[in-house]
Amino acid sequence: MFKNKYIEQSDLDKFPSINVTFFRFPYINKKTFYKIGKLHLKRFEIYDLMKKTDSSQRLIQLSKKVTKIEFKLQKLWGFKANIKFHRWFDVPKCKCSKLDNEENIGSNFKIITNSCPIHQLHLQGNRYAKSYIRRYKK
Ligand SMILES: [Zn+2]
Repeated sequence: MFKNKYIEQSDLDKFPSINVTFFRFPYINKKTFYKIGKLHLKRFEIYDLMKKTDSSQRLIQLSKKVTKIEFKLQKLWGFKANIKFHRWFDVPKCKCSKLDNEENIGSNFKIITNSCPIHQLHLQGNRYAKSYIRRYKK
């Protein structure tokens, strides 16, 4: 399908959300690059759906889809799928502290705001995030 295996500027322009400074970038081939790009678009579509709903149940359902996409992306970038490196707090309508959770990326800690319509329920029974959840009353 791809004549040229190298990623060119015109490819990059199609998916501005892809972080090209990513350190493994030189090892990503064109086919993988496009797979990543399409997953980014899919994630934006899910984000749009999340922006349109206030149903906690629906938001949780959609955020689970985001998690699945994140796992796929990690694998495409050449990593093992690992929940610790998800930016789970970046989804629309999440009220958890981005700053605190950003600091805890790579650890088991997740700081959940009680008023978050997604994570106060979603992560409770989540097998990846048991017992390390610190709660903030807000
Ligand atoms: Zn949240």
